[in-house]
Amino acid sequence: MIRGQAPPAVRGGRRPNPEVRLVSGDLLDQASLVAAVDQVRPDEVYNLGALSYVPISWRQSATTAEITGMGVLRMLEALRIVGGITASRTPGPGQPRFYQASSSEMFGKIRETPQNELTPFHPRSPYGVAKVFGHYTVQNYRESYDMFAVSGILFNHESPVRGPEFVTRKVSLAAAAIKLGLRDSLRLGNLEAERDWGFAGDYVRGMVLMLGQEKPEDFVLGTGVTHSVRELVSMAFAHVGLDWREHVVVDPALLRPAEVDLLCADPAKARERLGWKPVVSFEEMIALMVDSDLRLLSDSRHA
Ligand code: GDP
Repeated sequence: MIRGQAPPAVRGGRRPNPEVRLVSGDLLDQASLVAAVDQVRPDEVYNLGALSYVPISWRQSATTAEITGMGVLRMLEALRIVGGITASRTPGPGQPRFYQASSSEMFGKIRETPQNELTPFHPRSPYGVAKVFGHYTVQNYRESYDMFAVSGILFNHESPVRGPEFVTRKVSLAAAAIKLGLRDSLRLGNLEAERDWGFAGDYVRGMVLMLGQEKPEDFVLGTGVTHSVRELVSMAFAHVGLDWREHVVVDPALLRPAEVDLLCADPAKARERLGWKPVVSFEEMIALMVDSDLRLLSDSRHA
């Protein structure tokens, strides 16, 4: 989604890759997806499209359901229609493999910890509810049409190009800006929330491994280690020699109508079956995000 995005510099400012050819399509528009799939004839499809910022999902709940939930169904329908697949005419060899970005937000008000592929869902936001719809739609297309369609249930994964509205990037940008004397405070919501945060690059590797499996199956990807927002802030500020308590203001307006208090992955299945494990630690990820924002903000100051 373009609406509400920060300027390219803050979002990472990457130049387009000349080897990537862009073909447009819209998760709200079935015909555009059919046309795109027909034109590209892909081997693999990764559906990462979503309205993905949880607080916005309360304000735009119907749009979230349409894009984040129904968008999955439309993408699968596009593959089914272009492939000529029906319940009695299942996919032949060479049909595209489909990856769906499911989310740990589906676990929401957790029923057990750590969470694995069999943990029941209890989503806590319109975003989480829409992701559950997408997740079961993938399962249903696999069972109804024998399509190679899988969901990766990914826990929070971050990098220097994360949107600045998410807490990790909001904190790394603030720590860098305060260090450079560009501002002096940071407003945050719930400091007690705990997440299993990993580095996005590790997770993309896991996604590719899932589509390389012999049989389509869902996998949880996460580190198995949990930290609070408070720990995240403390670590990011300490990295630039600052004491977070002198700069952070808790703003009740940033609290959510329903919160996901704790997420912690059990990635045992991915480790055993995919040979996947994350390489970049939480501490390394925070350091590389803060360092990247220090460079970004110093460059833009001198530009
Ligand atoms: P999410 O897990 O997909 O919702 O990822 P976020 O990065 O948006 O939020 C992670 C956690 O940080 C949630 O429990 C938020 O309530 C908490 N949090 C605390 N303060 C903030 C804030 O200022 N912005 C965001 N985005 N999250 C915050």
